[in-house]
Amino acid sequence: MATYAAFHRRSLEDREGFWAEQAQLIHWHKPFNRVLDYSRPPFARWFVGGETNLCHNALDRHLAARGKQKALVWISTEVDKSRSFTYEELFFEVNRVAAMMKSLGVKQGERVIIYMPMIPEAVFAMLACARLGAIHSVVFGGFAAASLAARIDDARPALMLTADGGSRMGKHVLYKALVDESLKLARHPPRKVLIFRRGLDPAMASVRARDVDWAALEREVTLTDVPCAWLESNQPSYILYTSGTTGKPKGVQRDVGGYAVALAASMQHIFCGEPGETMFTTSDIGWVVGHSYIVYAPLIAGMTTILYEGVPIRPDAGIWWKIVQEHKVAVMFSAPTAVRVLKKQDPAYLKKYDLSSLKHLFLAGEPLDEPTHVWITESLGRPVIDHYWQTETGWPLLSAHPGVENTPLKMGSPSFPVYGYDVRLLHEITGNEVKDGEKGVVTIAPPLPPGCMSTVWGDDQRFVDTYFKDFKNQLIYSTFDWGIRDKDGYYFILGRTDDVINVAGHRLGTREIEEAVSAHPNIAECAVVGVADPIKGQMPLAFAVLKDASKRTTPQEVMETVDKQLGAIARPKAVHFVTLLPKTRSGKTLRRSIQALAEGRDPGDLTTIEDPGALEQIRQSLGNQ
Ligand code: AMP
Repeated sequence: MATYAAFHRRSLEDREGFWAEQAQLIHWHKPFNRVLDYSRPPFARWFVGGETNLCHNALDRHLAARGKQKALVWISTEVDKSRSFTYEELFFEVNRVAAMMKSLGVKQGERVIIYMPMIPEAVFAMLACARLGAIHSVVFGGFAAASLAARIDDARPALMLTADGGSRMGKHVLYKALVDESLKLARHPPRKVLIFRRGLDPAMASVRARDVDWAALEREVTLTDVPCAWLESNQPSYILYTSGTTGKPKGVQRDVGGYAVALAASMQHIFCGEPGETMFTTSDIGWVVGHSYIVYAPLIAGMTTILYEGVPIRPDAGIWWKIVQEHKVAVMFSAPTAVRVLKKQDPAYLKKYDLSSLKHLFLAGEPLDEPTHVWITESLGRPVIDHYWQTETGWPLLSAHPGVENTPLKMGSPSFPVYGYDVRLLHEITGNEVKDGEKGVVTIAPPLPPGCMSTVWGDDQRFVDTYFKDFKNQLIYSTFDWGIRDKDGYYFILGRTDDVINVAGHRLGTREIEEAVSAHPNIAECAVVGVADPIKGQMPLAFAVLKDASKRTTPQEVMETVDKQLGAIARPKAVHFVTLLPKTRSGKTLRRSIQALAEGRDPGDLTTIEDPGALEQIRQSLGNQ
């Protein structure tokens, strides 16, 4: 067994040799003629000239050896149902949906927006897009109509797929009604909307000539064997929107070949998922973790993947462990917030089930605090691996590598740089590398490894300007996270350098929330900051200035405006009304100082403040909470 250090070193010193070897883990219809083309920095093109297909690698390739093995197991504690599909059955379903999409005129390279709950049809749809070479963009079901409309206008889809409804904590969420609302706002609506009816919205309205019923179309299609579109490795596979410092989410674009190779390799070296074993990732398909580790990676690895619709504490806090026992889960992937929720429940649930099949629990998406890391490690009696990555990277960037070497874990640390990533911690002003024990910005010296975003959809310049211009004198990718490395080489993530906040592992831009708050007719301006929360990590907090103070406006109304604009995940914990916001003389809102006050810390250097009375108002409104 190689040591981690040698493995990582080789991945950078012999980049092309290393990745050429990893590329053997997937099927290539046509071999690539160049491992890496880095002639136009920072754009990296991996496995140039090679042709492959994500759906082929996830399904077709396994039919001969594991046709009768379970590929997908769906468990819904929301509607109390479960279904499972063997590789053969999943292959059939995906082909059928691909045929349905084809009959609706979807062509290679066209975009398809999937706005669906956690049901098997959503997975069929993603894989069917991959099969056809259509570019999917899955939008998380928690996003509201205006957010969905913004994504529709950026992606300009040919088709949208949705369901009548979903369910969360037993409450129905009307997906199709929300799609209708978003399409009233969108300037570039799709030609058709394909709707899967679950019977959750009996009063669902239908728009003639646009809406197509899933079951009816399923009966109509006769052609159920749709050949895979062989795509050049660098063609786009999907777009996934993510928040940043501006109000407009960015479409993270990913390729085909590099992504497939990165995922296949990560299953070996990091997640230790063997063919025939079961993986249970508790995320949602609307997030990058769901794309990579519910859908593509476990199937590419020939595993059984679990799709879970529900929350961790219903019907009781033992549900996840019951699933682990029943399905002999070997690899589990979740988020720190979920563990903190479970930590508040009766610990007996963790002892009630046989968890001996479980090799590791992986946690990512937000900082894993040391007490939570210690608690879950002791409760499970299994290694719990904190690993760090972003929508942009598509797969881990800092992690332990149990498939390479069992390095000791340090609580609260996502361990070391992953192979392929040339991670540097840079001083925020000088751009020089910091010493061990000093705080710096986590950056990656390009080229980014396979699997990472190739560009911002439709906007190459935005890709360069957003990610590679944080440091004046060097072209280097910024993660916008602070980090520190200890003397043993372990990294610790200390939070974002920008105005992005992380609510229960969901990334939200404070600018986006401010825009949503400002959509209320009586708000003149506002500032939104993230404040520490014991369960969710962070929560948004809003301070707003009213246009007309004589008009009655309640915090509740403002929260509802945010629900409508962005979705309930972005709802501020509280809304405080003030008559002015603390700003610098040049007009910049002092968000950091507001945040410090809200968290009971020193607000820092205030010499540039325009009117100290503004900060006093913030202090008072917090005192009145
Ligand atoms: P997202 O793109 O939504 O997955 O969010 C990525 C961001 O989540 C990162 O930039 C970090 O701020 C945070 N994050 C993800 N994983 C971790 C982790 N293991 N520890 C600390 N922060 C994390």
